[in-house]
Amino acid sequence: MKKLFWFFGVVLVLYLVGINTLPSYVESKRNPVKTAGPYKVSAEAQAIYDRLDFISDLHCDALLWGRDLTKRGTRGHVDFPRMREAHVGLEMFTIVSKSPSGQNMKRNTADTFDNITPLTIAKGEGPWNWFSLVNRAVSQSEDLADFVAEEGEKAIFIKSKADLEKLIEARKSDKEVIGAMLGIEGGHALEGKIENLDVVYNAGVRMIGPTHFFDNEFGGSAHGENGEGLTDFGKAAVKRMNELGIFVDLAHSSPAIVDDVLNLSSAPVIVSHTGIRAVLDSPRNLSDEQINKITAKGGIIGIAFFDMAVGEPELPNIIASIKHVRDLVGIEYVALGSDYDGSVAVPFDITGLPLIVEGLINAGFTEEEIRAVMGENVKRFFLENLK
Ligand SMILES: [Zn+2]
Repeated sequence: MKKLFWFFGVVLVLYLVGINTLPSYVESKRNPVKTAGPYKVSAEAQAIYDRLDFISDLHCDALLWGRDLTKRGTRGHVDFPRMREAHVGLEMFTIVSKSPSGQNMKRNTADTFDNITPLTIAKGEGPWNWFSLVNRAVSQSEDLADFVAEEGEKAIFIKSKADLEKLIEARKSDKEVIGAMLGIEGGHALEGKIENLDVVYNAGVRMIGPTHFFDNEFGGSAHGENGEGLTDFGKAAVKRMNELGIFVDLAHSSPAIVDDVLNLSSAPVIVSHTGIRAVLDSPRNLSDEQINKITAKGGIIGIAFFDMAVGEPELPNIIASIKHVRDLVGIEYVALGSDYDGSVAVPFDITGLPLIVEGLINAGFTEEEIRAVMGENVKRFFLENLK
């Protein structure tokens, strides 16, 4: 009896130490910044940056790490205070529910050990989240809702066109008001149940990427094994997503899924965080043919900031990727899709966004084009397509 008492006592102490130290340790290792702020740019770049009234980013995984996003963090890349410092109006927070150990860009299976399980336990989440992907997704949604609620009038959880219009109106008199949208990386979070689309929709999710790093019930991942297109489940899910008003995010999808979704979806698609093959030939990046097809259907492409998407050094390649999309299909289809806090090393955190403006100026972009890339395209896309 005494031994048992000691055993559970030690387990409890280890657990309590773990939930206080492990997630922050893991995050600081997984989401480094190559150059710490504050970031300096030319007076011209800063002046243009300061005139931008709607900056938006299509992808970050900040919800994963158990950080209080209402506080300015000393690690990671994004939180509400840093969004305000950077004058960002809208950020898409995405939910990662499962990540295979040994995760890589080329080939992953669904049945290797899941890295998110120990992280979920170490974050002190309830046992109901330990092994249920949909519960993990709902829990991260509730975290975002709580953070937004804590901010009172200063933050809006964007779930509809009306919410976005409210945000735009509020920012006319108060640039401190920020908007947060919610997405999911990988349809495995639905656990193969179409009715879970309604569950995550009701939790605020408005964008889902069919696959993440491994093949799942929707079909093949860009980094999976089978390379397949949408399964029957995947097709039914896309139709239901169209009905509900959840955007399809084609980042991480197999080329076959990209084609299937473009044939099937009645709504334009998002590629929330990607690179392009013309700049870096990687399985996760879009070919010119794909860029043409996606944008011909009104889609929008967010360029990611990390080396595995754009190549090194990052900043010149981020700019080259934006420029390539502009030259190929037009400025109105390209946006920022950082992948901040997505287990990636980035050149700068969100407060370094003026560096993008400086890069665009140096590449010959006009102020109007810079405004489009930095946020106006995303604003227009959601005003036109959010229900
Ligand atoms: Zn991703």
